[in-house]
Amino acid sequence: MLPAPHFSAFNPPRRILMGPGPSDVYPEVLAAQARPTVGHLDPLFVGMMDELKSLIQYAFQTKNEMTMAVSAPGSAGMETCFVNLVEPGEKVIVCRNGVFGERMRQNVERVGAIAVVVDNEWGTPVDPAAVEAALKANPDAKFLAFVHAETSTGALSDAKTLCALVKQYGCLSIVDAVTSLGGVELRVDEWGIDAIYSGSQKCLSCVPGLSPVSFSPAAVEKLKNRKTPVQSWFLDQSLVMAYWTSAGGKRSYHHTAPVNALYALHESLRLLAEEGLENAWKRHQDMHLVLRAGLEKLGLKFVVAEASRLPQLNAIYIPEGVDDAAVRARLLKDYNLEIGAGLGALAGKAWRIGLMGFGARRENVALCLRALEEVLN
Ligand SMILES: *Cc1c(COP(=O)(O)O)cnc(C)c1O
Repeated sequence: MLPAPHFSAFNPPRRILMGPGPSDVYPEVLAAQARPTVGHLDPLFVGMMDELKSLIQYAFQTKNEMTMAVSAPGSAGMETCFVNLVEPGEKVIVCRNGVFGERMRQNVERVGAIAVVVDNEWGTPVDPAAVEAALKANPDAKFLAFVHAETSTGALSDAKTLCALVKQYGCLSIVDAVTSLGGVELRVDEWGIDAIYSGSQKCLSCVPGLSPVSFSPAAVEKLKNRKTPVQSWFLDQSLVMAYWTSAGGKRSYHHTAPVNALYALHESLRLLAEEGLENAWKRHQDMHLVLRAGLEKLGLKFVVAEASRLPQLNAIYIPEGVDDAAVRARLLKDYNLEIGAGLGALAGKAWRIGLMGFGARRENVALCLRALEEVLN
């Protein structure tokens, strides 16, 4: 027998999360998650799932039937899109202007497909002209994949224009909306997006671990006409949807849904619907402007040019001679405040201040500015 370890219950402090995610969770969402667990085929739970699907459709602004939440984080949503839609040997144009575009490229390679990379400098948006040139040069390409809101740099790409190009060249689009959903304008049906995924822990301010996903009718057609089975059993949408749709009132077991986490997502999306999507987009922008004014007063400079700056992810250069890790450690220790470190090419060079979901509010902005001012002096 191994001796039994004795620990006290884990009681984390209440931090203020202003990094790249997870963001501050709504108190109502934490309360929802603590409600009694029911069976994942309980008729009451199934009713909640139907509402959850409508709420995800609202957040994405889509009528897509194939809309659900993957029982895993945003990275699994990314993988869901690639493994279901892309077949070995197919060509995918991948836009890379930060960490997550590079991960999309790796997904393409892992499904045995061919990635044609369109590179844009870190901190800049995806360039539609470069994308059009790649679409012209690769008439056999089947997909264009890009990140709407690059969390590693804070750059927003023009999803509407990019998706219009995709349609014009007869391809399907795969869009990463992990950080954009709920924080900036996003209209899946109007912009003609074919496959999209997000994450629960960024602008939805839900607990981490779920990924809303939606496929257009054209993407569903592509999935139906596959010549090879989806190599991932767990992420195979044709199997998962038997659980997420109550065809003839019957759902079948695929995997045990993360019951309590889905209560949490239901509550966070319900709060988003109550606020109204457009009001939420405006609140993120308003809080960004307040933060920007304060950061500029402190002499801090943004990584991204104003026209393509994400309101919910503010990447700023670390001032000359300032100890990156020491500042972030003091913010955490003295103010219970978490801001993000730089990622990839911006590691050690930038901080990332998130204003996501419940975190995008005046008191957070004020605390962050005061704490930065005190620590930097
Ligand atoms: C956070 C993030 C992901 C990954 O999501 P996880 O929930 O961490 O797996 C993917 N893409 C973007 C743009 C992100 O910001």
